[in-house]
Amino acid sequence: NRQLHLVRRPAEKITPLDFRLVEAPVVNPGEGQILVRQKWLSIDPYLRERMNDAKSYLPPQPLDEVMAGGGAGEVVQSKHPEIAVGDQVIGLGGWQLFATMNGAAVARADTAQAPLAAFLGAAGMPGITAWYGLRKIIAPKGGETIVVSAASGSVGGVAGQLAKLSGCRVVGIAGGDIKCRYVVDELGFDACVDHRAGDFDAQLAAATPAGIDGCFENVGGVVLDAVMRRLNPFARVAVSGLISGGYDGQPVPIADANMFSTARVRMEGFIVSDHRELWPEARAELAGLIASKRLKYRESIATGLESAPGALIDVLEGRNFGKQLVELP
Ligand code: NDP
Repeated sequence: NRQLHLVRRPAEKITPLDFRLVEAPVVNPGEGQILVRQKWLSIDPYLRERMNDAKSYLPPQPLDEVMAGGGAGEVVQSKHPEIAVGDQVIGLGGWQLFATMNGAAVARADTAQAPLAAFLGAAGMPGITAWYGLRKIIAPKGGETIVVSAASGSVGGVAGQLAKLSGCRVVGIAGGDIKCRYVVDELGFDACVDHRAGDFDAQLAAATPAGIDGCFENVGGVVLDAVMRRLNPFARVAVSGLISGGYDGQPVPIADANMFSTARVRMEGFIVSDHRELWPEARAELAGLIASKRLKYRESIATGLESAPGALIDVLEGRNFGKQLVELP
């Protein structure tokens, strides 16, 4: 087996030197367990937070152990009564080629509906994050204006498309012209604003002439502040993530909390893994939308286990374009 271990905790920015490639024997599955030959690793922003030795909703990633993370692959040995050799599954296999996991902790991917890798993206944890935040927190009504940040990403792309399916005016926020054009032309958002543009605030105002009723927030910082200033009374902000800051232990401020009282705005954070009971329903709906071509997504694919640290750095610096994956050939 080949594995990537975290060998030191990054100060602020991570580097490939924080990891070490390790050869280790494959662990045979015990009763109730399966052995998965992983084909895809899911590279997600939350992995950065796990590298810190800080109190959070997840325990810190232990040093000198396999880096945790989602993956997808094929079952090559099974000692679980309901999982067969050859099944395509998703689970928390970590950064390694072969993962021994409890059968009860994986989900089967319905590859008749969508490709295996989609169950790590639009029909996986990120898509379900979008589904939960949009449906359960923003709960949009037709005709409302919904803003989505990191709009070209795996979470943002799904959130915006679901809002469109609910009959909303949907405005994306993304970094750069190419991502913005993709968000409008391919994903079908009504408009997209470049957060790096000098006149970002003015462009956001022009794209939201009736104000903002709901915000699916992935970024925080100046992006969220600009949205907050345009919230309508009774607007809902679903805080999915604040990828622009916080990894160095510094607080992520909100410029104007006055909106909570004057505009009766509701801001609610959530962690998708708190709502596991909804995952099968959400996953089935999202996979069905992919199968019927009503839900689109794109992927950034790096190749080989060694590329995983660089792929995570790309996500944290906005160089990925769509769901970031590592393919294990
Ligand atoms: P994405 O594919 O959206 O990749 C991250 C994107 O964030 C980058 O491509 C970049 O897009 C943007 N970004 C990065 N740094 C900055 C910055 N400093 N300022 C502005 N934008 C930045 O990743 P995901 O779809 O996987 O995740 C999106 C968000 O969802 C993250 O905040 C993540 O933590 C959150 N999340 C939350 C979950 C939950 O349970 N609450 C579960 C899963 C994800 P651009 O170039 O357009 O700026």
